[in-house]
Amino acid sequence: MNQKSSGTTNESLFARAQQTTPGGVNSPVRAFRSVGGTPRFITKAQGPYFWDAEDRRYIDYIGSWGPAIVGHAHPKVVRAVQEAAARGLSFGAPTEGEIEMAEEICKLVPSIEQVRLVSSGTEATMSALRLARGATKRDKIVKFEGCYHGHADSLLVKAGSGLLTFGNPTSSGVPEDFVKHTLVLDYNNTQQLEEAFKAAGNDIACVIVEPVAGNMNLVRATPEFLQTMRRLCTEYGAILIFDEVMSGFRVALGGAQSLYDIIPDLTALGKVIGGGLPVAAFGGRADIMKHLAPLGGVYQAGTLSGNPVTVAAGLTTLQIVQEADFYTKLSAQTRKLTDRLCEAAKAADVAFSADTVGGMFGLYFAPSVPTSYAEVMQGNKDKFNVFFHAMLDAGVYLAPSAFEAGFVSAQHDDAVIEATIAAARTAFAAIK
Ligand code: PMP
Repeated sequence: MNQKSSGTTNESLFARAQQTTPGGVNSPVRAFRSVGGTPRFITKAQGPYFWDAEDRRYIDYIGSWGPAIVGHAHPKVVRAVQEAAARGLSFGAPTEGEIEMAEEICKLVPSIEQVRLVSSGTEATMSALRLARGATKRDKIVKFEGCYHGHADSLLVKAGSGLLTFGNPTSSGVPEDFVKHTLVLDYNNTQQLEEAFKAAGNDIACVIVEPVAGNMNLVRATPEFLQTMRRLCTEYGAILIFDEVMSGFRVALGGAQSLYDIIPDLTALGKVIGGGLPVAAFGGRADIMKHLAPLGGVYQAGTLSGNPVTVAAGLTTLQIVQEADFYTKLSAQTRKLTDRLCEAAKAADVAFSADTVGGMFGLYFAPSVPTSYAEVMQGNKDKFNVFFHAMLDAGVYLAPSAFEAGFVSAQHDDAVIEATIAAARTAFAAIK
């Protein structure tokens, strides 16, 4: 089927999509519910750009929500995928490519001695959680408000009304019984974490955290928060899981764990490691990973896990990000973008701040960078929405929500940043 037939508009496609797909989209945030308006239907992408059904070009700052770190349709990645596809799409039996992928991950991610490939970040975190519970023979898990770890039942939990109030489901369809073992604490609240371990530490199977949070806009963990978490997990025999589905190969080659110099017991990866195709992974200490089937009693499996085509995309992407100075340049370019945005906001007298970690950025319609979910929520959502639409009209596609991080690729060169800033000057002026 053609991606695009003549006369189609985003509007007509959205109306058509809603006939057969709930909300017209296959993942909720694509629907523009938070910012209003009509989602853009994308026909093609190249480098830092994508094009919609009306042939309008956008500078893309979502990069497929993280994976597109080397830019869209990188020739080396496309070639690797084409060659792999020509050899067969899926075998359901092991391949050498999977070994190479595992070897690269074990080499590059400090905490990973053994790794298993899966097909989505949700599968990676869900499986890591089951493994942690199976290995410790404990049920309780700790997560932090504002961190997203995929849509497994026991992770769709909002904070209770006070410390040690176990969670309430945030999604209908999740029985209370499924989340009664999930304790939700405040991000970056070290004292609360200490108290939770003092009260229930011997029952806690694991702590799962985004070491750089990217699902409540961008919020970086303080080193003290992560160090305390590491110490408490070791002291109480709980497993520390870093969810680096977003931060892995995004904030640095070795992920957030290399930036903070903290070794978690297990790590979940996704996004960049698939280069735009569905690959994710979880891995860590070999003595924990040995609990997985077929060696141990924790069951986990996947028909398409380690698929030869997706692994070809992932492996090639991982080779490109190892090129000299890849992250130095990516980080500098991302910082240039946010520095220039802050200047433009200041010139327009708009209360605005921004932060970056590697190739990830956060934009806040607030005078200072937030450190917790509660602070993120104080940002001015209405101003963001005006800014978002003004940028979109000017051909710059930001995440369609005030509570999402943004992503820069290696193809966002100075000219792309300049074009973004020119658009931002008009957009900030529209806010006033
Ligand atoms: N963990 C984190 C930190 C994520 O950002 C995401 C997706 N945004 C997930 C898990 C879930 O990954 P997926 O959407 O591939 O299931």
